[in-house]
Amino acid sequence: MTYNVTLIPGDGIGPEIAAAAKEIIDASGVDINWEVVLAGEAVMAKHGTPLPDYVLESIKRNRVALKGPITTPVGGGFRSVNVTLRQKLNLYANVRPARTLPGISTRYEMVDIIVVRENTEDLYAGIEHKVGKNAAESIKIITREASEKIVHFAFNLARQKGRKKVTAVHKANIMKLTDGLFLDCAREAAKDYPDITFDEMIVDALCMKLVQTPETYDVLVLPNLYGDIVSDLCAGLVGGLGVAPGANIGDEAAVFEPVHGSAPKHAGKNRVNPLAIVLSGIMMLEHLNEKKAAQRVLEAVIAVLNEKTHLTYDLGGTASTSEMAAAIIRKMS
Ligand code: NAD
Repeated sequence: MTYNVTLIPGDGIGPEIAAAAKEIIDASGVDINWEVVLAGEAVMAKHGTPLPDYVLESIKRNRVALKGPITTPVGGGFRSVNVTLRQKLNLYANVRPARTLPGISTRYEMVDIIVVRENTEDLYAGIEHKVGKNAAESIKIITREASEKIVHFAFNLARQKGRKKVTAVHKANIMKLTDGLFLDCAREAAKDYPDITFDEMIVDALCMKLVQTPETYDVLVLPNLYGDIVSDLCAGLVGGLGVAPGANIGDEAAVFEPVHGSAPKHAGKNRVNPLAIVLSGIMMLEHLNEKKAAQRVLEAVIAVLNEKTHLTYDLGGTASTSEMAAAIIRKMS
């Protein structure tokens, strides 16, 4: 079977890591017809927008995309392409696994958390305005529809992956209406999944507990902003942004991408770690039900990590992006 997959290389380090991921995934034996489409800073001058319509059309047609990071200007400039993409395609679930990988030394062992972040609303709805000269307001939107969707998604994912516990994370003690609604939806949904333990935690307490006993957490489900922050924290528990994959999933399409950004200071130097996008590619293969290919790539990655001879700078090595990618490919041949 041949799969049509949209590949968005992205900005900064994006093209280097996307090229590495494409080669590695192709070497796994799966037959992918990559439709490469450009987005971000690279197309801004030509198209007047960082997200031309052809990008959305390609993803809608293929229903699956692998995406490199895209730069978002701070303060002014264009709106985040990532946020717009998630909203336009209704990619309501952001899934970020954080799992201890062999060969990567961290402070913790046995971390295996899946962060499920609501991806379309909360403070990321982008409804902001100035109030006079010296104040500004941002509106936090939480709806029953989006909250129910994400908590059911989290419980179903837990079931599908054989997980035992779902923890809903909130700040409903302070934001009684918005986070209160999210928490009510989680409590209600939990009744439909008696086989899975339900737990709830206030986000600040969770952050402390995560750095103390991360091995006690399983699946976390959070509104957008807390999910964004907590998933980076979880990435830090297992080796940092260089090894943190992600997926944005909706009913009509799924976009797989690393958690990290475009790291402009490293762009074009062929030195960053390709693993975050490669692990995102493994999630994509699982989504396509290509479990054997996914396992092949994972085993090759683990072999290279254990060998420790072809690691990038962030993992304590001196290999380039392409050298590490070539080492992974050799393990599959
Ligand atoms: P960043 O993740 O790009 O980089 C922060 C630091 O993390 C880098 O300087 C580098 O030291 C390290 N790092 C990141 N990726 C790495 C890798 N693959 N290998 C090794 N080290 C790595 O975060 P930032 O500097 O805050 O953001 C840069 C740009 O990326 C911003 O414009 C931001 O908006 C954008 N961004 C995009 C996405 C996305 O497209 N999904 C996500 C986050 C940030």
